[in-house]
Amino acid sequence: MKTVYVDNNATTKVAPEVMEVMQPYFSDLYGNPSSMHFFGGQVQRNVNEARDQVADFLGADPSEIVFTSCGTESDNAGILGTLDSYPEKRHFVTTRVEHPAVGNVSTYLGRKGYRVTELRVDREGRLDLDEVRESVNEGTVLVSVMHANNETGVVFPIEEIGEIVKAKGIPLHTDAVQTAGKIPLNMKKSTVDMLSMSGHKLHAPKGIGVLYIRKGTKFSPFLIGGHQEKGRRGGTENVPYIIGLGKACELAKRHLGDENTRVKALRDYLEKRIFETIPNVLVNGDRVNRLPNTLSVSFEYVEGESILLLLSDLGICASSGSACTSGSLEPSHVLRAMGVPFTAAHGSIRFSLSIYSTQEEMDYIIEHLPPIIQKLRDISPFWNDYLKAQGKK
Ligand code: PLP
Repeated sequence: MKTVYVDNNATTKVAPEVMEVMQPYFSDLYGNPSSMHFFGGQVQRNVNEARDQVADFLGADPSEIVFTSCGTESDNAGILGTLDSYPEKRHFVTTRVEHPAVGNVSTYLGRKGYRVTELRVDREGRLDLDEVRESVNEGTVLVSVMHANNETGVVFPIEEIGEIVKAKGIPLHTDAVQTAGKIPLNMKKSTVDMLSMSGHKLHAPKGIGVLYIRKGTKFSPFLIGGHQEKGRRGGTENVPYIIGLGKACELAKRHLGDENTRVKALRDYLEKRIFETIPNVLVNGDRVNRLPNTLSVSFEYVEGESILLLLSDLGICASSGSACTSGSLEPSHVLRAMGVPFTAAHGSIRFSLSIYSTQEEMDYIIEHLPPIIQKLRDISPFWNDYLKAQGKK
């Protein structure tokens, strides 16, 4: 069966070039970078070359790059490592639409007695900068605001947030797991102190991440162990994946221009054709400040899960904005925070493209999506009620 993979915000294909550079580190070059002998020393040099590639991609100094096991670890380490450095400060600020890697840390901190402020978003998924300004004070230990939302693709104005936060001397962490490789990042010109990224969102394997820590930022290690990563993250380095991530960053830097323009054009085409072929559709989130690869749409009066299953039967892999919790389908916390109406939130689907997406794939989706929505609406009591209310039935 044909596979049309449009779920790249969930994970991406490992690039063949990345696979190739990783291979020797599973076989011939298996030394431990901490070993004194030449065999480990060579691997240590290669790890540092990969660190240079990541630093170059982020516009950072190599000494500011800490390799972790994933985006979740980077988020946890960034937040908890800062809190540990300022035990006297007990106020944490984040948003209502974070990925659970930050959102559930926020809940945990609330349970531990921290005062937590979770900033609201509007109907377009945007933050109110005045609310950011009003929420921070001398007791605030850290502000953690994601760079772009994984469900809607809405990009937050992280530099403006940074200016507000830094004026009060408060550190800023951002979860850039969804922006790395999709929009340019330059830490030299940034107000951000700590930034998380994850390999598997930019064509490196699952199980490797980065925490960027600006020089001079107070930080206590989250994984306490050996001297690896200059004492900031214990544990023998995941050498093959670090090498792979270095290559993925080099490729991502190259693709940031032309390839991302192409991906955006494909996403815009898909959005336009959906609007032309299906009635009662809404786009979730700010259409201007949005990742170039992401499209979150709601099809009114149908269930997202049913759409996904029917798409999946045709080889199309997307995702929905609902989570199956205790047997009931709840719209995601992101769509709820945005106040997306019930009838639309349940029918939300996220299409997320990559550099491997093609025009032919978009046409395949457009060939099959309208009849699927029609079929589901034909059996939907909500759609029937809607048609009656409109005098169309
Ligand atoms: N943060 C965001 C915004 C994400 O989208 C994800 C993964 O979906 C993560 C964090 C977690 O990254 P990882 O899967 O590498 O732990």
